[in-house]
Amino acid sequence: MLAGQEGSLVFVTELARHPLCWLAAKLSPDPAMAILVHTMLKRGMRSLRTLEELSLDNTYARLPEAFYSKLQPTPFSSPTYLISFNPAAAELIDLDPAQAARPEFAGVFGGSMLAPGMEPLAMLYSGHQFGVYVSQLGDGRAILLGEARNERGEKWDLQLKGAGRTPFSREGDGRAVLRSTIREYLCSEAMHGLGIPTTRALCIVGSDDQVYREQVETGAIVLRMAPSHVRFGSFEIFYYRKQYEQLKVLADYVIGQHYPHLVEAADKYARFFSEVMARTARLIAQWQAVGWSHGVMNTDNMSILGITLDYGPFGFMDDYDPGFICNHSDHSGRYAFNQQPYIGLWNLSCLAQALLPLAEKDELKGALDRYTPMCEGRYIELMRAKCGLIETKEEDALLIQDLLALMHQHHVDYTIFFRTLSTFQTGSASLNEPLRNFFLDRGAFDQWAVRYEARLREEGSRDEERAVRMNRVNPKYVLRNYLAQTAIERAQQKDFSEVDRVLALLRNPYSEQSGMETYAAAPPNWGKHLSVSCSS
Ligand code: AMP
Ligand code: MG
Repeated sequence: MLAGQEGSLVFVTELARHPLCWLAAKLSPDPAMAILVHTMLKRGMRSLRTLEELSLDNTYARLPEAFYSKLQPTPFSSPTYLISFNPAAAELIDLDPAQAARPEFAGVFGGSMLAPGMEPLAMLYSGHQFGVYVSQLGDGRAILLGEARNERGEKWDLQLKGAGRTPFSREGDGRAVLRSTIREYLCSEAMHGLGIPTTRALCIVGSDDQVYREQVETGAIVLRMAPSHVRFGSFEIFYYRKQYEQLKVLADYVIGQHYPHLVEAADKYARFFSEVMARTARLIAQWQAVGWSHGVMNTDNMSILGITLDYGPFGFMDDYDPGFICNHSDHSGRYAFNQQPYIGLWNLSCLAQALLPLAEKDELKGALDRYTPMCEGRYIELMRAKCGLIETKEEDALLIQDLLALMHQHHVDYTIFFRTLSTFQTGSASLNEPLRNFFLDRGAFDQWAVRYEARLREEGSRDEERAVRMNRVNPKYVLRNYLAQTAIERAQQKDFSEVDRVLALLRNPYSEQSGMETYAAAPPNWGKHLSVSCSS
């Protein structure tokens, strides 16, 4: 969309700054003006910024030097080009979308130029990987460029992923391959569309540089955004090094920046932990309800803000399988789908351990004890909503559990089934043929349906009203591996349109989108068991 339109985009940008732009647009015969007016109205006439005008700071760079390593991104040796740009993320930092057409855009977000105020650094952290403490990790291929503050005062880290080696790269090459950047880009935006807290992604910049994984691939960089990239492991490193002064500096920084209401509290560190615990519990309940697995829930991949962080071998499950392991390299199933709530607790225990020098043990333990009821409670609330139930009844847990057991036994597609469940009609089993057809043993489903119908009647549920409500919480479209794979394979052939198409589709996963029916389908045979590993 952007190439070749630079002239008119400059004009559009200039107009956008002018308070009478909408009037100018009305008078103009150019349809681009109508689009501009719409965009401006939607944004409430917010002023949009150029790359040079991004209000950049880097508060992390003011922390002691031990917290990071300052360095420059390493440019690719071949020319870079913009693969995809996400206007929804640009909006978060008030960046004018027209900026994406400038060569400087691919320069800055492709690691060869810096915009004013950028102060690049790689963050230090450690973490428990697959249950084992690794004493030093850190950003091995991520570089924090700086923090943009939007007009609403929100702060967003701008981080390049795949911009070359850092002192923390260990034996890695500091690069990300096109395949993994597309997966992260699409999935983080898909999660946001689903209403799940997550890092965001502004763009992907590609190059023809070769990067060696299982096979030769090309390198790319994804620009990731988050209010903070601090992880559980950022705390663990200072605890295990017995650098409790640094630990306190980090905790005070995170509380000051992201939990400001706690700054004055006497027991602020324990309360901070309690809030991280609650956010993590709610996050993991959301993953479970949507049928999503992270794949590498190491403590260095756990966000201190309770957002989904570090997309590697993640996966939305197709057929419901509680033992689903999305990561080909996870031989023991440590991070299997049904382990995620427990692993959340395990990881929080690691964080609690690291906070011991700052907070009372009993208070930390008390917060840990609240985790499981909170995660399970939120999960059941979400599942109740997926089933269209409003009232809270003790027996709902069993009703839902029995449905899931049936779905597992009959290899029922998780997303499609719940979307279709909104068509359930009270009255007669014959009305529910589309739902019965998911199950080989229709009688088994009928037995469950009798209980479901009785439960619906108990709360006076009306079919039509319930269907509308259910379609707002049961997505029609999720980023199945095969959809990501199709976009990747086209992009590897230099056709980036599928990336943009899937990005736009997943922005509104709960809406029916005309002409996009095939994207809601279960995977074709080739896409059923795609192998996704840590290699990215
Ligand atoms: P992950 O669990 O994939 O987020 O990565 C674990 C650690 O390995 C982190 O410290 C990453 O920065 C680092 N890492 C992963 N891939 C690379 C790479 N290609 N080059 C350098 N470091 C990497
Ligand atoms: Mg990581």
